Amino acid sequence: MVSFSERLLDRLRHTESVVALTGAGISASSGVPTFRGKDGLWNKFRPEELANLHAFLKNPELVWEWYSWRRELIRNVKPNLGHYALVDIESYFSEFTLVTQNVDNLHQVAGNKRIIELHGNIMRNKCVDCNYQVASQELEAGIVAEEKKIPTCPQCGSLIRPDVVWFGEMLPEEAITRAQEAASAAEVFFSIGTSSTVEPAASLPYLAKGNGAYLVEINPDETPLSSVTNERFAAGADEVLPALAIEIEKMRSRYR
Ligand code: NAD
Ligand code: ZN
Repeated sequence: MVSFSERLLDRLRHTESVVALTGAGISASSGVPTFRGKDGLWNKFRPEELANLHAFLKNPELVWEWYSWRRELIRNVKPNLGHYALVDIESYFSEFTLVTQNVDNLHQVAGNKRIIELHGNIMRNKCVDCNYQVASQELEAGIVAEEKKIPTCPQCGSLIRPDVVWFGEMLPEEAITRAQEAASAAEVFFSIGTSSTVEPAASLPYLAKGNGAYLVEINPDETPLSSVTNERFAAGADEVLPALAIEIEKMRSRYR
């Protein structure tokens, strides 16, 4: 049984401005491995060694093989109760923003409306040179030419890469700016299933708290953020978020 403090419930009762920042942990119980988890076949590679431009240019076959494996895996999984609870929670607040570090598209499949993707989306791809956009379905349907399993750009002939943010790359400027604005305005900020180590996303909860937000963490393990949170739930997002959605529904309908 998950229970929520009066302080948290009181904040949620009186605000419209709520932000949820999610990381790989929310998708763990859907069967998408986190970067800190066991990736079977891919155990011998560190994600940092594959998810960067240098590695891609040096060995595009290997990096594409990893992404094709991840994309296939993601295609075969479904959102879990944690994702669906966030769809319900969004519906109770007029200013709810979901900021995600995930690239797995599961929040979109679940049905959240206002989503800021900080790290791109594995279902999209782009040319390394001219930025030409290619959907993953187009790659799989063979619409885009492939040589040695590496797709090339129909416009300029350069390599096509996944449209995700790799280590050492800048985040899409509009996405991080919108996320910072939402974090600054938030009255309650949830950090869910993220190890809170990847910048600049890791700074968003500090920005929120510095501007007066009540900070809540949902993660079975402690993170560098844990000691600064106002409230912490040491349990899975798929357990805590559905309970939270029920609480919010009860009180928001009572007070409206
Ligand atoms: P991470 O792998 O560094 O950390 C995952 C966190 O989730 C850990 O702190 C872990 O304790 C926690 N966790 C595990 N199970 C959980 C559960 N059931 N409920 C709640 N929390 C749980 O992930 P990160 O912080 O998102 O950062 C790593 C980077 O990896 C990000 O940039 C992200 O884009 C990328 N990534 C994305 C996916 C995805 O899209 N699903 C998967 C792996 C990595
Ligand atoms: Zn191109």
